[in-house]
Amino acid sequence: AFTAFVIEDQGGKPKGAFKPVALSELPDHDVLVEVAYSTVNYKDGLAVTGKGRIARKLPMVAGIDLAGTVVESRSPDWRTGDRVVVNGWGLSETQWGGYARFQRVRPEWLVRLPDAFSLEQVMGIGTAGYTAALCVDALERWGAIEPGGKEVLVTGAAGGVGSVAVALLAKRGYAVTASTGRPETHDYLRGLGATGFIDRAALLENGPPLQKERWAGGVDPVGGQTLVNALAQMVWGGAITACGLAGSPGLPGTVLPHILRSVALLGIDSVMAPASRRAAAWDRLARDLDPAHLAAMYEVHPFGDLPELAERILAGRIRGRVVLDLSA
Ligand code: NAP
Repeated sequence: AFTAFVIEDQGGKPKGAFKPVALSELPDHDVLVEVAYSTVNYKDGLAVTGKGRIARKLPMVAGIDLAGTVVESRSPDWRTGDRVVVNGWGLSETQWGGYARFQRVRPEWLVRLPDAFSLEQVMGIGTAGYTAALCVDALERWGAIEPGGKEVLVTGAAGGVGSVAVALLAKRGYAVTASTGRPETHDYLRGLGATGFIDRAALLENGPPLQKERWAGGVDPVGGQTLVNALAQMVWGGAITACGLAGSPGLPGTVLPHILRSVALLGIDSVMAPASRRAAAWDRLARDLDPAHLAAMYEVHPFGDLPELAERILAGRIRGRVVLDLSA
């Protein structure tokens, strides 16, 4: 048996704990992976602490991401020794996830480890970082942002999605303004390429539905009033991606930015993103995420630190990203 972090029903509430699991208990999927690393995303924080109902069936092995090596495969697409990554696809919701030394997964969920990254680095990116890449892809496809042009806003900038978004946008030459509630992270964010800063509190105030036009584009993992203010401050024809709810799931605004300034709100879901979108996002990360920036973004922790890290991410006290070493 090996150790997994399992969510179980306790008096009608989801409750997580480290538990021994046997290989024979794993789901009957075609590829067995020895998991080297996982990570802690915001959604993992919700699942592990029980503060959000992420698992839709119990018992559930949590962890929305995993990276490791194939040890057994009934699929012609994967062989023993292949190094692979899984992000999303219902892991920790309807499918057993990455908080286990071994996991069985479906062949179509696997992405080959990009040559640019080690297994540790790829979990340094994780769903948060891959979602940031999906956001930048969406903004470029929409065509609202221009290198060297008007500012692009990144909210929740010192968090996981935010950090990677700042680095990816800056690398392509966009003028990035970072919104954070932690002024002590300004040097870190400047190091990743941010050139402007706006206090998180300034975007949380109630403001008029149309404000001074400032942002050509934006990446918003925060939601709520922050997203409403960002929309109210977009230039004519600007676009912002809604990809998170770290502040609030609400959207307490008006349609005015959309109907008077042609502002676009682009929704981003990483969990069910098709393979072609995933491949494009990983290509962008391999091309544009400077290894020194990535190294500055994450810390590696032993698996046993998971409960404490889950509390910290929900409290907004993780800078950048954390990697979990499943062998430690
Ligand atoms: P994270 O590392 O905790 O980052 C979130 C950041 O948001 C925090 O670091 C903080 O940034 C800011 N923040 C936290 N609470 C806030 C509040 N009450 N008001 C304003 N700002 C606040 O989390 P993450 O893993 O990057 O995920 C961020 C969000 O994106 C989560 O909601 C997550 O569920 C979502 N997400 C969605 C997808 C998708 O598929 N759509 C994929 C990945 C993540 P500062 O300290 O810099 O202010």
